[in-house]
Amino acid sequence: MGAGFGRMVHVMAEVLIAGGAGFIGANLARRLVAAGHSVTVLDNFWSGRRANMAGMDVRLIEGDVREPIAGRYDWVFNLACPASPPRYQRDPVFTLTTSIDGMRQVLALARRCGARVVHASTSEIYGDPLMHPQTETYWGHVNPLGPRSCYDEGKRVAETLAMEARRAWGVDVRVARIFNTYGPFMDPADGRVVSNFIMQALHGEALTLYGEGRQTRGFQFVDDLLAGFMAYVAKPRAEVDAFFAAKGMALPVLNLGNPEEITVRELADEVLRLVPSGGGIVSRPLPKDDPHRRRPDIAWARDCLGWEPRVHLREGLSRTVAYFREGPAAGYMNA
Ligand code: UDP
Repeated sequence: MGAGFGRMVHVMAEVLIAGGAGFIGANLARRLVAAGHSVTVLDNFWSGRRANMAGMDVRLIEGDVREPIAGRYDWVFNLACPASPPRYQRDPVFTLTTSIDGMRQVLALARRCGARVVHASTSEIYGDPLMHPQTETYWGHVNPLGPRSCYDEGKRVAETLAMEARRAWGVDVRVARIFNTYGPFMDPADGRVVSNFIMQALHGEALTLYGEGRQTRGFQFVDDLLAGFMAYVAKPRAEVDAFFAAKGMALPVLNLGNPEEITVRELADEVLRLVPSGGGIVSRPLPKDDPHRRRPDIAWARDCLGWEPRVHLREGLSRTVAYFREGPAAGYMNA
């Protein structure tokens, strides 16, 4: 931001987004640039998309997060890992090593240059949870030998690495456990439920409901997640440390998700209300280890950040439908 624009004091940060060409990264990059920060995206385009970079005013490093990362940054967001179940199961060893070796490299970078790290962890840490809703203190119920374990266990190890880097080297690393998130810049072909349902409805096809659709999720619009990220990264270290020390936590960890829990069948009905396709709903087998229930307890995020989701499902879905109809080629910008 140039000087001389009124009395606004603005501190520009040098920011690295590992995985910045993916769904959440592409939204975050735009938000950071709009706020006046200088943004570098590191992506190997394994699941990130070149189309997401269109019109982005950022520096691009095409590379693998598992390799040493050069440069100096104030903030590093670690979003580098495929996150859709069919995608992350396509090459499980890649998924696992991206989580673990990627985290090692991000933490080594932060140690060297003193960057603050916000790490994208996941509700999958909790597996198929036996505690409901899920609080940050819950240890989870994860199958270490299942089709989802390459993602779940990789993300769990990444949290352990973060904790140890904080303890041994004093790295300022903060973990966000992200629950199901949707919105513009999602990959229409990545196999997640929101993108599948919207694309199927737009093409007049039947929506593929896995199982009877009684499993639940809370769906968070991406702008709400970004608001949480921005509040988290901007919070002074002393305040973050004091908050989590009082909770007896060895690492700052916050659930960021929408606690409004609905069944997947209700989601299908909602999409069909917005895009009446005539294709109806078709049943497909429920994938193995698909979590039955999932809902974040967001009391800590509320207390620590003054944050909570604001965008209702219908509003968020209609903005996502508009994106899938028009796409970035139509000059879509996240408002
Ligand atoms: N799902 C579905 N139809 C689809 C894709 C997913 O019914 O075409 C279900 C899936 O079985 C799961 C929920 O929707 O119960 C959310 O799936 P998603 O892959 O989006 O994310 P997950 O929460 O499982 O990581």
